[in-house]
Amino acid sequence: MSTVTIAPLAESLPAFLDSNDFSAVAVIVDNHTFKFCYPEIKGLLPKHTLVRIKAGEEQKHLATCELIWDALTRANFDRHALVLNLGGGVIGDMGGFCAATYKRGIAFAQLPTTLLSQVDASVGGKLGVDFNGLKNHIGVFQQPNAVLVDPAFLTTLSERELRSGFAEIIKHCLIADAAMWEQIRRRDPDEQDWSALVAHSVAIKQNIVAQDPTEKGLRKILNFGHTLGHAVETHFLSQPRKRLLHGEAIAVGMVTEAFIAHEKKMIDEVLLTQIEEYVFAVYGNARLTEADVEPVLALTLQDKKNRGREVRMSLLDGPGHCAFDVPVTTAEMRRALAYYNG
Ligand code: NAD
Ligand code: MG
Repeated sequence: MSTVTIAPLAESLPAFLDSNDFSAVAVIVDNHTFKFCYPEIKGLLPKHTLVRIKAGEEQKHLATCELIWDALTRANFDRHALVLNLGGGVIGDMGGFCAATYKRGIAFAQLPTTLLSQVDASVGGKLGVDFNGLKNHIGVFQQPNAVLVDPAFLTTLSERELRSGFAEIIKHCLIADAAMWEQIRRRDPDEQDWSALVAHSVAIKQNIVAQDPTEKGLRKILNFGHTLGHAVETHFLSQPRKRLLHGEAIAVGMVTEAFIAHEKKMIDEVLLTQIEEYVFAVYGNARLTEADVEPVLALTLQDKKNRGREVRMSLLDGPGHCAFDVPVTTAEMRRALAYYNG
């Protein structure tokens, strides 16, 4: 698996470029990372091709990939070229997918600039795009040649985006580190040492991915909160006013899936209450309505962890522990959504 370097890019990027012999370099940015992040690294790079796309999840589809492949082709990139993905999970997943498929695969490095991509999306080699309204429906597993994390980028991130990324940190603690869960839940959510949390979270994810890179088993625990979370996120994608950021949807998923784990007697009421209280304190209630329930349930049938039409979840079975491939019925999910709606 690729190593993850957490350091100022002024150190890590020249070291990475110098230790390789790339024939050409492309940098993929979105409008925001062009403005806030690209100026920080421009001076560290050799002559390069800049590919700038609009910001946002709506851009994460095959038509945008065509723009990227087109830019690489026009610049005559050969198989020894490098793609640098400077951005959040959208740029990382899509730029990585484009690199992994261009001429059957060229080198790429993730330079994650959001909290979510620093603690989660840039690590682990899952790449891809949304398709027909379904999240990450088309994609591949391919480990990046480098993941260079510079927490300094977080300073220009909005409060809302920071909170979204924090959901994956909470998830990592809940599935793998009970002591850390105890620490964070007692701390003021607005007073965080992001650099330390990033390092800790990356270590948890890397440890899990190293044991199961292509998600045949254990890696599925990283999907705690993501069956109902992804369904809720996808459901609201087409409703701009109710749209949730990824981590906000995962927050809904963590509460509802903790409820299911409690119903199945996998976790006690203490842990369920802790999760619920903490998540509501940080994220509020996403206000699902009665009308949202059935479409959300229908979307869970598309989950990549399912076996046929049977929904299988990763469910906590204690603080810091998570089981995977647990069959869950529609009735159980319906009760969990009703519980969340209060
Ligand atoms: P994002 O890439 O859309 O970034 C969020 C917003 O922040 C965008 O508007 C972006 O332009 C802006 N931004 C980025 N860096 C900034 C900075 N330093 N300062 C100011 N603004 C900045 O979204 P995200 O939350 O980073 O990632 C979500 C995506 O990641 C989803 O598509 C999700 O499916 C994917 N994801 C992938 C994995 C994986 O394992 N591959 C894991 C989790 C999530
Ligand atoms: Mg996630």
